Amino acid sequence: MRVSSYAIGAPLADERFFVLLHGVRGSLDKVAATTGAYLVEHRGDIAAAPPWDSGGRIEAHLKERGYLTDLSPEQERGLMVDMATALHKADLASSPPSFVFVPAFTCNLRCPYCFQSHEMHAGKGTFATVMTRERVDDAFRVIDGFDSPGAVARHLDLLPTLSKDVSQAGTVGKLGLFGGEPMQEATREIVGYIVERARNRGSALWAITNGVQLDLFADLLGPDGLAEVQITLDGMPDLHDQRRVGPRFRQTFHKIVENIGRALEADVQVRVRINVDQTNADHVAMLNDLFMERGWSEHPAFSATAAVVSGEAKHEELVSPADLLSLTRALGGAGCVSSYEGYAIGVLKRAIAGGYPFQRAVNCSAETGLLMFDPRGDLYGCWDEVGLMDRRIGGYRGGVMDLDEQVARSWLSRFPGAIEQCSRCPYALIHTSGCANTARTDTGSIFAAACEGFQTYFPRSLAESYDEIEHQLLGKTPPAHTRSRSLPIVQVTSG
Ligand code: SF4
Ligand code: SF4
Repeated sequence: MRVSSYAIGAPLADERFFVLLHGVRGSLDKVAATTGAYLVEHRGDIAAAPPWDSGGRIEAHLKERGYLTDLSPEQERGLMVDMATALHKADLASSPPSFVFVPAFTCNLRCPYCFQSHEMHAGKGTFATVMTRERVDDAFRVIDGFDSPGAVARHLDLLPTLSKDVSQAGTVGKLGLFGGEPMQEATREIVGYIVERARNRGSALWAITNGVQLDLFADLLGPDGLAEVQITLDGMPDLHDQRRVGPRFRQTFHKIVENIGRALEADVQVRVRINVDQTNADHVAMLNDLFMERGWSEHPAFSATAAVVSGEAKHEELVSPADLLSLTRALGGAGCVSSYEGYAIGVLKRAIAGGYPFQRAVNCSAETGLLMFDPRGDLYGCWDEVGLMDRRIGGYRGGVMDLDEQVARSWLSRFPGAIEQCSRCPYALIHTSGCANTARTDTGSIFAAACEGFQTYFPRSLAESYDEIEHQLLGKTPPAHTRSRSLPIVQVTSG
């Protein structure tokens, strides 16, 4: 008998106990600390000299829950790949494509750490092209033809074609705006046209914007127009205004804060993003205080997330996701900024509710069908690759999409079961292999793992989130390291 290769766990605040999760079966258990520590320490090994009685009740329970197994490592891996494959197929079949307009490559800011080039943002050569109404119409013809779950996968023969009578109707999901900077003076007219066309088909829009000129788009803000925005604040004015600046915008903090308030007043969902490195880590708490002072932390349409800057988008010195997680958790019960807690909270919510906790096998929409329409008539399948000609996945001209099928198919074929390292990883159905673009930057291939510290920070995050949920359910005061206010309401059901 072996300890399963997919046993995950960490000690709880009450040191007598340990939380265990099975990375394929989805079992969730609270066990004695000695038992849990043994299983995690001996993951994948023969269970020799365990701390429980051989053949007793505890051993039977651990076996029934999958933490102990008679399967060989390869047989267990086979089960994991089967489960990942089933989830992946469901992902491809149920996900409508994500459609994103890039109205311009230019940007009104020149943030020193941006992953896109300043040449692009300054509008050198063809980067000066702004989307025309004809291009928008072309894009909408493609969107109208592909707006149903699984449409891109079917087009690439990764799913069987649906017969006419079972074809799914258009899903009228939200459409996206990205850049460069999509919300600037130069794009005002064309974004107005995109919103008008989207409204006519019942679609709202979201945008990733720096928020500096969002006031120019005030008449478009609202649930049936520009319904969601993600805006970056990198710290308080003294620091933010050293980083989020451009040729005509030397100080942007106050303007952005004003525009966030304007968007919230218009019932727009606002997600503030804080890009964190060592130079601004202490500003996360200050921004948290600012959001509370303004009453945004209580606003149902407001959320804030902090993320480490990674890959090419380096600030001076990186912090690790584990450091950032400690930082946001240290904000305590009053905190409204989160970072990487969502993975653990999501898994626990579903497991405690009696369901299978792993729901997806893809990491992002690039792996189920992301079509980004640029102003030159080219298509991209990943946010970080917009404007890079050698990374285009096709074109759209005259309303016809011309995909490079080999490239597009490889994006939609990436999932943990297709990556050797991930298929052996106990966290694979939670982390789902990380960002493909980061994997390619690191290894030259998207069919590689992009761990980014997940194995280090997830177990502790699981234990801390478990403590919070348990205390919430039992109506007790949470332990000092936890923060109850951001917790989801957990319903415990039978089954
Ligand atoms: S592959 Fe990475 S960079 Fe590209 S869209 Fe997905 S998460 Fe973003
Ligand atoms: S990327 Fe790393 S942590 Fe994520 S699933 Fe793959 S091996 Fe595991």
